[in-house]
Amino acid sequence: MLDRQDILNVCPDMPVLVDEPMCRHTSFAIGGPVDLMALPASPAALAALLALAHRRETPVLLMGNGTNLLVSDRGVRGLVVKTHDGLSGLKRSGKREIVAGCGVLLSELAAAAARWGLSGLAFAHGIPGTVGGAVYMNAGAYDGEMSAVVRRTSYVGMTGQFGVLTGPAHAFSYRHSFFTDHRRAFALEITLALTPGDPEAIRAETEALDARRRAAQPLDLPSAGSVFKRPPGGHAAPLIEACGLKGARVGGAAVSDKHAGFIVNRGGATCEDVRRLIGQIQERVHAETGVTLEPEIGLMGDFGAGAPA
Ligand SMILES: Cc1cc2nc3c(=O)[nH]c(=O)nc-3n(C[C@H](O)[C@H](O)[C@H](O)COP(=O)(O)OP(=O)(O)OC[C@H]3O[C@@H](n4cnc5c(N)ncnc54)[C@H](O)[C@@H]3O)c2cc1C
Repeated sequence: MLDRQDILNVCPDMPVLVDEPMCRHTSFAIGGPVDLMALPASPAALAALLALAHRRETPVLLMGNGTNLLVSDRGVRGLVVKTHDGLSGLKRSGKREIVAGCGVLLSELAAAAARWGLSGLAFAHGIPGTVGGAVYMNAGAYDGEMSAVVRRTSYVGMTGQFGVLTGPAHAFSYRHSFFTDHRRAFALEITLALTPGDPEAIRAETEALDARRRAAQPLDLPSAGSVFKRPPGGHAAPLIEACGLKGARVGGAAVSDKHAGFIVNRGGATCEDVRRLIGQIQERVHAETGVTLEPEIGLMGDFGAGAPA
């Protein structure tokens, strides 16, 4: 098992935090301490870190901005690598392309695209994750999806070896990609192909979608966005609402009164509160409608004997 000094011996400039509370790094504001958290600033530093962790048989988990994660109250054993905001290169390439580091926020990427008069990312501006996290799960909103704009992704594997995906090799489908199938590969640099457009019109489209989001979502409370994937042929929120679950509560976790697809942290919510509430929603919706709701948010950390499948 690695310790902080082992990492600093190989990567002297890398920020490394010990026993860092994960609740400081998740949009849910939930999660116990991780043994080690490292924040690499370059692909080479990340590759060196992964190779070291592999040699020292230390488990590694990657996170972007922690906006789609529910982390155990018992925390995380091993090393968490956080890509935001070290891996944050952002540059224009040719007339229609942008190359973004995996740790760049979607809001920054979409704002840069608008500045450069490139359209296709207005949908992404209000999604609070990183570009890497969005590629991982093919994030989408308002009829837009990462799959429509991502052309090329370089990645690094657990042993520090590099690879490249282009076009169909990303294997994008609804909330799925090459990376959800290959959990030991991490997206590094993403090339997006966009369409030339008028910066003012792009900004207006972005602002209109952000306003729709503000009107519909409980953005004033900690959450991880929509908890469940869309079930075939519909949406989770109306089913949850129809079952009378708006406002349902376990401890500090509650189904949002504003958007039934969100669970919010009303203060002091634990991971167990959220997991129990998810279980109650799934049970009730299945009993009343026959629909099985599948979580969209990812679980991370030490769940002991109650480990999720
Ligand atoms: C208020 C709110 C609104 C939201 N709205 C939307 C929405 O409209 N549409 C939507 O799709 N999502 C939405 N989300 C969810 C979330 O923002 C997205 O899923 C986002 O893509 C997650 O990115 P992240 O960097 O925070 O990933 P994290 O939460 O840090 O990680 C999520 C998963 O991605 C993996 N991952 C992260 N970076 C990489 C990488 N570089 N390579 C490989 N795997 C990686 C992690 O290992 C983990 O399994 C919302 C969340 C919130 C809080």
